[in-house]
Amino acid sequence: MKDRLKAFFYSRLSHYLPYSDDEKYLYLISLVACSFITAMHLVCLIIHYAINVLPIMFLCVFALLIDILLFWFVTKRRYKIFGILLSVIVIIHAIFSAIYIGTGNLIMLYLFVTLMMQMIIPYASIRIRGMMVFVLWAAMIALVMIGYHMVPIKDIGEASNTILSLFNIHLAFFGTLIQMSIGNTIRGTIAKLNLAKLKESKHEANTDPLTGLFNRRYAEEIFRQLSNGQHEQLWCVAMLDIDDFKIVNDTYGHQVGDGVLVWLSKIISTSLRRTDFVFRWGGEEFLILLKDVDISTASYLLEKLRVKLESESFEIGNKTINITVTIGVAPLDLENIKESIEASDRLLYQGKNSGKNKVAA
Ligand code: GH3
Ligand code: MG
Ligand code: MG
Repeated sequence: MKDRLKAFFYSRLSHYLPYSDDEKYLYLISLVACSFITAMHLVCLIIHYAINVLPIMFLCVFALLIDILLFWFVTKRRYKIFGILLSVIVIIHAIFSAIYIGTGNLIMLYLFVTLMMQMIIPYASIRIRGMMVFVLWAAMIALVMIGYHMVPIKDIGEASNTILSLFNIHLAFFGTLIQMSIGNTIRGTIAKLNLAKLKESKHEANTDPLTGLFNRRYAEEIFRQLSNGQHEQLWCVAMLDIDDFKIVNDTYGHQVGDGVLVWLSKIISTSLRRTDFVFRWGGEEFLILLKDVDISTASYLLEKLRVKLESESFEIGNKTINITVTIGVAPLDLENIKESIEASDRLLYQGKNSGKNKVAA
């Protein structure tokens, strides 16, 4: 039940992402208050129909129409008018009910729950809510006076008064319970949403939009972690660059070039082990971190990758594009990460100068 409620809150919040946490809270708790009052009006309508008190039954129908308005005010974020209107309709209902059928049915509790809501729901300034508390308090006194001075228009009898008393007790009981307990659920849902958003934005900040690979910014983050000793393993660093990529762009156009980059990124990331990292370092340059390998194993793994890239081809329309890559690989010195990267870069250019399409270690 709680999970379903959380899921419901979560779905409702999707429209309220740009707003502050307090605003999200206010929106959800007001929505709960609207739902509660609507449910109560519906039950109230049924009971008054059952005990044949038609004027109050019609008042409930009217109240239900006002409830639609309340929902509308909440979705429009007009909380002040929502809060005041809700209290006013409750006061009218209670006083009319007291005059018509008397106060022997604990109608007073109806005002009491609404008074609680003024304290719990921050729909307006303290001054306005304080004023509403005062008005509700005055309405309670008025009910006592009506009970003392006036003879009810209709005598509904002991049985009906008992049914209504039971209804009003439950209204007060559940109303208080829901308002007191729902706050934590709402806060929890908002926190979960914020965490999900944070993760998403972190993910966006760390990945390259074209290839979906980690970007250079995230590489710097990983290097920081590595030099802080957060990963104690042996690593090798490799720089991979596509051979004659300019020709691909010049021949087929930049868009096809982008397609090649996406295709190649997928092959690289699926060919390596889960523990390795691939970053898009620059335009058509990729930096690879291979975990727990010495330089000869790293060279072997990268040679396998090079052969795979050489043997596969990128197909678009009726064109088949073959590409090759040159890779420079060096051991990663955790004390001198920058120098290790530069070493792999130097090896890459040695590979380029000595004919390309090779792994240089
Ligand atoms: P080499 O074998 O020496 O690496 O030759 P090359 O042509 O690959 O190298 P060069 O540095 O001369 O050219 C790199 C090309 O990569 C030029 C640039 O237009 C292209 N490039 C860089 N980033 C992107 C990109 O995001 N999309 C596309 N389509 N092309 C890119
Ligand atoms: Mg190149
Ligand atoms: Mg290059």
